[in-house]
Amino acid sequence: MILDPFEVLSTDLLGRVGRLKTRKGNITTPALLPVVNPFIPNAVSASEIVDLGFQGVTTNAYLILRNAPECTSVHNLLKIESPVMTDSGAYQLLRYGTISVDQERIIAFQKRLESDIAVILDVPTGGYASEEQAMRTAIATYQRAVEALPLIKDDNRIWVAPIQGGPYTHIVDRIAAQTAALDYSMYAVGSPTELLEEYNVAPLARMVWVVRQRIPYGKPLHLFGAGHPIVFALFAALGCDTFDSAAYAIYARDDRYMTPYGTKRLKDLVELPCSCSICKKFSEAKELLDVPKPERERLLALHNLNICLQEEKAVRQAIREGRLWEYAKARCLAHPALKAAFRVLVEGAEKLIPFTRTRKRRGLFFYDHDDLNRPEVLAFKKFLKEKWFPRTSKVLLLRADKLEPHLERFFLNPPSDYQVCLWGGPFLIIPCEIAHTYPLSQFEAADCLISEEDVLWIADLLVAKGVSEVLLVRSGDPLESILLERLRSKGVQIQVCDKPPL
Ligand SMILES: [Zn+2]
Repeated sequence: MILDPFEVLSTDLLGRVGRLKTRKGNITTPALLPVVNPFIPNAVSASEIVDLGFQGVTTNAYLILRNAPECTSVHNLLKIESPVMTDSGAYQLLRYGTISVDQERIIAFQKRLESDIAVILDVPTGGYASEEQAMRTAIATYQRAVEALPLIKDDNRIWVAPIQGGPYTHIVDRIAAQTAALDYSMYAVGSPTELLEEYNVAPLARMVWVVRQRIPYGKPLHLFGAGHPIVFALFAALGCDTFDSAAYAIYARDDRYMTPYGTKRLKDLVELPCSCSICKKFSEAKELLDVPKPERERLLALHNLNICLQEEKAVRQAIREGRLWEYAKARCLAHPALKAAFRVLVEGAEKLIPFTRTRKRRGLFFYDHDDLNRPEVLAFKKFLKEKWFPRTSKVLLLRADKLEPHLERFFLNPPSDYQVCLWGGPFLIIPCEIAHTYPLSQFEAADCLISEEDVLWIADLLVAKGVSEVLLVRSGDPLESILLERLRSKGVQIQVCDKPPL
């Protein structure tokens, strides 16, 4: 088993652009490896998927074993030379309850197929299992991962250990910690398809969050069944590197048309809001709806694939630019259930600090109070608490989000007996000496983002730093009185003026 198939090239939040090295070439991640079934006539073929621009595909080893047991090369079967991931049959187990194959046989078969990324035979939990069932399947999957090790340790491909446990995060957490210790090439979060089909994304986001905390940062993480472009950015931000899904085909079967911000029924559309090679052939949606069924299904599947690929590239670009927070958030605002899933990032943001670049090519955008939990803000608050010491115990407070041009002159010659600070912006309080430093002046913010709680944090910080006198330049901000009241209650002497003393 290859132990280090992954190289991280660029990071933002827990997301990374990486290079996954397989026997058939590298995959730039995050990447979707669409699921193909070579035994369905007229389906979009693996070579069509590769021609669209995808870097590889996923197929099911169990289906091949059942339909073409003599097959010795999955690449010949699919007629492609790109990387192929083979799933072991767990999905069939989840859907049909039982499959007639044991782990040893399916592992040997995946080796014979020359699969590039292979998966042990896990026991899926499913999205709506009881706690007892979740525990049983998670432990059984872990035991399979242990039993598989001697069968794969000398094999030169990427082997994936799935982590089960469904929405019970305490189970997922325990099993992820144990599985991480087994030192696989790659890990996966198992069987969330049912949750995703109902936009029930938050439990899955929590599962991924827990698993990502447990497995080593340098190891890639696969997410099974996540095939809608609307969730790619969120799951990339949570640290997923590859995805597999047949959603593009399943949606097409039901005349469902994917967009990066949700799914539309073809019959409800007048326009086709896309200019991919398929959509530009039709001047309106009705023309596509008039195409007879088998062909229409193929065309819709191809459009859905185009949309997935476009989103995959946009997510990688967002990571490279360091704006994955804004990008994932914009996607998550498309559906209330996704907004709830985005909160997993907001609530865990402190743990994102080490993985978030401190210098980026562009400024940050702040839309609402949630954005004050961005790792960049939390890192700055940590700096203020632990490493900043005011020059004097007298502080001059000016209400400004950031260093605006009209304040520059004042900042060049601040009154020497005061430590001058700006207060009230998304970074809460900015000492003038570092106000130029990225990202303290390189951002755009909606008005009035900070809350009463943030103002109390500012006052408590100043008190903790030994500030005994505050000169506040009146601004009319309604939070001003709360700030002064808190400072006064802690024994700080207050003076208020209308203009900064020059
Ligand atoms: Zn299209």
